[in-house]
Amino acid sequence: MSALETTLRYFKSASKVMDLGDRIEKFLTTPRREISVEVTVEMDDGRLETFVGYRVQHNNARGPMKGGIRYHHLVDLDEVRSLASLMTWKTSVVDLPFGGAKGGISCHAETLSEREQERITRKFVDGIHDVIGPYKDIPAPDMNTGPQTMAWIMDQYSKYHGFSPAVVTGKPVDLHGSLGREAATGRGVLIAAEEALKAYGAGKGLADCTFAVQGFGNVGSWASRLIHERGGKVVAVTDVKGGTRNPKGLDVSGVVAFARRTGSVDGYPEGEPCGNDDLLATKCDVLVPAALDGVIHKGNAKDVRAKFIVEGANGPVTWEADEVLRKKGVVVVPDIYANAGGVTVSYFEWVQNLQVDTWPEEVVNRRLHERMTAAFSKIRGVADGRKVPLRTAAFVVAIGRVAAATSKLGIS
Ligand code: NAD
Repeated sequence: MSALETTLRYFKSASKVMDLGDRIEKFLTTPRREISVEVTVEMDDGRLETFVGYRVQHNNARGPMKGGIRYHHLVDLDEVRSLASLMTWKTSVVDLPFGGAKGGISCHAETLSEREQERITRKFVDGIHDVIGPYKDIPAPDMNTGPQTMAWIMDQYSKYHGFSPAVVTGKPVDLHGSLGREAATGRGVLIAAEEALKAYGAGKGLADCTFAVQGFGNVGSWASRLIHERGGKVVAVTDVKGGTRNPKGLDVSGVVAFARRTGSVDGYPEGEPCGNDDLLATKCDVLVPAALDGVIHKGNAKDVRAKFIVEGANGPVTWEADEVLRKKGVVVVPDIYANAGGVTVSYFEWVQNLQVDTWPEEVVNRRLHERMTAAFSKIRGVADGRKVPLRTAAFVVAIGRVAAATSKLGIS
């Protein structure tokens, strides 16, 4: 089942509970706009190469659309559509005044030089600058894009429209970015884990639990660092090259330093080797998939030994696996809530840019904590009240807000 079909299934299980009706359901599952642009650039060796860039704008009933830009060879329209709709539900579940969008370029990002990445990014902006903007659609980083990519987007967009830092978030801190943005998604994962344990952990807190984290990029490494700082025991981490496991707990700052030096967590000397399949089946209390989508599927869901899954990545659990996990009694904290810390601080960055202001990091972190805990309490209320899984409850909360805005605006 594709990522898009999975998202649609999740949407439908919630819309059934809400009795949403076909008319509004069709409206909310249809993207407002989909764009594919040709991105032809000169490579460092003088060859011309053509890439395809996508932007899908899913819904703007609650405000300008918002969502990351991903550079990955598996990017296609289907994946971007699914991620764009997830953004609509994500911004809504944490009650931000945004809609949802997503973009990406199909490319082998790891083979591109920095100059090639810059040329591709600027050319992509040439193709989409008319349909993005601070009050239209605000991109952000995702896989293989980061603050530098956002700086190029801001600069290229500003050449057409004048100085516009609020057109994109996740910028470098010294170029109108927000303090706290880099760690925000990982911090949100930490808060989501804490809240889920408080609600369903039978008295066990973060410091009593073991964690296994898949992916050691922005989300996975920050989640691991913050969990470790709060006394949680991180027993395994992996990335695309492999991983490391130590049942006594890894020294996460040591792993971070090792990964910085070598480019991977694989081969960390104070742990035993751990592949990605081993990681997903590791004995732990909380599993944090923070790499790719679809990694927990019907073939391996039965092997999961964690009691909680906190979805740092977008769509890491397939529809079929979700069913298996529910029957096993695993509490799945869904992506649209669990990884919403990044978009929440992106919203703070947008507000700071529009106000030409800078907030101290502790203000950013405090406001993030307030938003994430308030959202969890709302989701939990629906889950417990309607006796549905947290994922269905999160979709019910999110869809309810978008549907209410839509019906007040009028569909036609
Ligand atoms: P990233 O590029 O910084 O890191 C990705 C990590 O995943 C790397 O460690 C990479 O080695 C690892 N990885 C890649 N392929 C893998 C594989 N086959 N098996 C195991 N590990 C693999 O990306 P990121 O920003 O940390 O994003 C990770 C996930 O979190 C994505 O699903 C993204 O959509 C989601 N997300 C990111 C943010 C954000 O603010 N960065 C916000 C919300 C959701």
